[in-house]
Amino acid sequence: MSDFFGKNIKELGFGLMRLPVVPGGEQKDIDFEQVQKMVDLFIERGFSYFDTAYLYHNGYSETVVKRCLVDKYPRGSFQVVDKMPLWNIKGKEDYEKIFRTQLERTGLEYFDVYYLHGIGVGSLDLLDKTGGWEYLRSLKDRGLAKHIGFSYHSPAEPLNRILDSHPEVELVQLQINYVDWDSESVQSRLCYEACRSRGVRVAVMEPVKGGSLANPHPNIQKIFKDYNPEASVASWAIRFAASLEGVVSVLSGMSSLEQVDDNTKTMSDFKPLTEAERAKIAEAVSAFAKIPTIPCTSCKYCMDECPKKINIPSILGMLNEYEKYQSAANQKFGYSMMTAMGGKASSCVGCRLCEKHCPQNIPITSHLKKAAKLFE
Ligand code: SF4
Ligand code: SF4
Repeated sequence: MSDFFGKNIKELGFGLMRLPVVPGGEQKDIDFEQVQKMVDLFIERGFSYFDTAYLYHNGYSETVVKRCLVDKYPRGSFQVVDKMPLWNIKGKEDYEKIFRTQLERTGLEYFDVYYLHGIGVGSLDLLDKTGGWEYLRSLKDRGLAKHIGFSYHSPAEPLNRILDSHPEVELVQLQINYVDWDSESVQSRLCYEACRSRGVRVAVMEPVKGGSLANPHPNIQKIFKDYNPEASVASWAIRFAASLEGVVSVLSGMSSLEQVDDNTKTMSDFKPLTEAERAKIAEAVSAFAKIPTIPCTSCKYCMDECPKKINIPSILGMLNEYEKYQSAANQKFGYSMMTAMGGKASSCVGCRLCEKHCPQNIPITSHLKKAAKLFE
């Protein structure tokens, strides 16, 4: 239970960013009937924390708050988090314009938590120039946000500096899961410690790593299932995050009624991880490192003569991620962005100039065939 809102609330949050869409539909075509069932089950089981953002589902996630929550349940019975999209800010006046749109879309008069969305090293200048921090404080002063903070996607060192300069921050949303806890790139543990050493509370995003830890490589699943056949593999990831002290909410971007059912069961009767269970998670982290992957060193020698300008090392990296998490969904998104202007794996003409230059003797062309099948 978290006491952050002055009352005890259960620590599972409903992330409204991967909602089901109608068959064949796009991001905006949310299946409201199905989402209503998911929201109802979530609330019926005693949960109340919802997380949306201006950009999720092209703006339609915020309308879910109105249709499925605000129009049906009394205001005091749930908490809503929303976020300011910094990439849409060109000048000072944009903050209020966007915020008013968010109130209108959600049908709310205030947000329980309001974040600056996705702060990283690159956004600090913009915030200073456009008065972003002042605007955030003004929301709290005007009663339009009960609590303020930011979501964060960069290494720990800048986070220390930001928190020292902004003691008004009450809550930071961080990417935390057992795989990224000690990773050099995400630095979950160091970011978490930066917050907690200053008494700042934490909301956890990506506890299941975008769904990847729900269905990882069979070797990992075996570790968890041998220990406790009843518990879902995803529940280990949720419990890892929720066991951390000072966590207000663990967000799960749920896409189906089954996921709501599983997550709410895990967190209804939440028990922190035991020492023995922590040892199993450590075993899983080591097992991840041992999964055989393509030994590409990203030297890029293979790209020099490729007539199709294929970004071979990035594609091989995506295949390695696929191998670990057994799901192409996350890689597909990155792949489509990367190859939007060309250089798809399927454009390979089989000339093998790349293989001639690869110091690791990687059979690049056959891996590209696999990538084309999986990601295109
Ligand atoms: S075999 Fe394919 S990937 Fe390799 S150099 Fe030729 S076109 Fe590029
Ligand atoms: S040359 Fe081989 S090791 Fe180097 S980036 Fe290309 S595939 Fe990877």
